[in-house]
Amino acid sequence: MPAPIRVAVLGATGSIGTQTLEAIAALGPDRAVVVALSAHSDEEGLLAAARAWPVAELALSGASARDPRVVHGGAEGLVRLVERCGADVVVNGVAGAAGLLPSLAAIRSGARLALANKETMVMAGSLVMDEARRRGTRVIPVDSEHAAVFALHERFGADSIEELVLTASGGVFRDRPLGSFGSITVAEATRHPNWSMGAKITIDSATMANKGLEVIEAVRLFGIAPERVKVLVHPQSRVHALVRTTDGTLYAQVSEPDMRVPIQNAITWPALEPCAFGRLDLAGARLEFSEPEAARYPLLDLAYEALRSGEGACVAYNAADEVAVEAFRSGTLPYLGIARVVEAVLAGRWPARVATFDEVLAADAAARAAARNAVKGIHV
Ligand code: NDP
Ligand code: MG
Repeated sequence: MPAPIRVAVLGATGSIGTQTLEAIAALGPDRAVVVALSAHSDEEGLLAAARAWPVAELALSGASARDPRVVHGGAEGLVRLVERCGADVVVNGVAGAAGLLPSLAAIRSGARLALANKETMVMAGSLVMDEARRRGTRVIPVDSEHAAVFALHERFGADSIEELVLTASGGVFRDRPLGSFGSITVAEATRHPNWSMGAKITIDSATMANKGLEVIEAVRLFGIAPERVKVLVHPQSRVHALVRTTDGTLYAQVSEPDMRVPIQNAITWPALEPCAFGRLDLAGARLEFSEPEAARYPLLDLAYEALRSGEGACVAYNAADEVAVEAFRSGTLPYLGIARVVEAVLAGRWPARVATFDEVLAADAAARAAARNAVKGIHV
């Protein structure tokens, strides 16, 4: 029997992290074991996750650890953990731009990168994919839409694919009258109809910035032109993505909305194994699709605008959205201000290419400063 797959779980206390641990437990210790775990400030959660895996190396990136078993600290500690743990697969479930450098460290260590952290691809997709090619390793998407496309892409090959369709639930405000968007509260925006996820991505699902990030992620992962990536609203979140092949046929990937399915597949890739989650009975199921309304989801069009503008604008789109969502959550920006901040930041000058990781981080810092300025100009 082959040795179990050694897995590092970054962001182990989050939504993706906890579901990764469930998927690994379901696979069983003969198939996969945890060799490293990280959290940002939730030390208790980290130690609770480590209970089942006492030999795992532990990192806490955003607070000083009290327990001596947590040997890696700070953002550098997270990178060191990845470099040292000898994982075959690194599952990156870190939230936000902080996921980029650990992704890079994973690839440089020769590990396969099971990538939930979409910011990695949005900020530095070309650089990361080049690095993976150089190191002879692969980036396997965990984001459900991209995992679906990935499976179909592997099957048909890039040359046979005419377009990708990513589905979007439409978020919690899909049917809310547009005239009442001015009074949307943080509590309302952090409820998702179909998925249970971290706060940032849940708000991004309401605004569709999440789908905007995913369009950029798809362009970078699959090397496809932006105009060949479409988005359809699909309220049931069961068809995760579709691929149209050059003969005009559409192929869909269909399962219950359960992240443990794409997580398991990314860990065991290229093997496809029996899975305890996500099995859907289609009898009696309703599957509906419609075009997203531009006025309801201005952040979707802004993502295509960022793609047309270039790589620097994609970095800026992500950074501005992170700053704006944070401001919305802390009560200093209204819901409708999120798109206005991103639009204002994108109106600046951004480089068409970002040739190094330092350039990515410089564009990210500049966009955050511009976004903070824009937030100040908008009143609650
Ligand atoms: P959560 O907020 O639930 O979890 C985030 C995890 O990252 C936590 O373990 C957190 O630690 C850690 N973390 C937070 N900030 C930092 C930081 N600055 N440096 C290092 N670690 C940090 O997020 P999700 O699990 O929902 O999302 C994680 C990523 O996966 C995001 O990029 C998201 O877009 C993507 N994704 C998520 C999906 C989902 O279903 N949740 C679906 C598809 C993609 P602590 O608990 O200590 O704060
Ligand atoms: Mg997704």
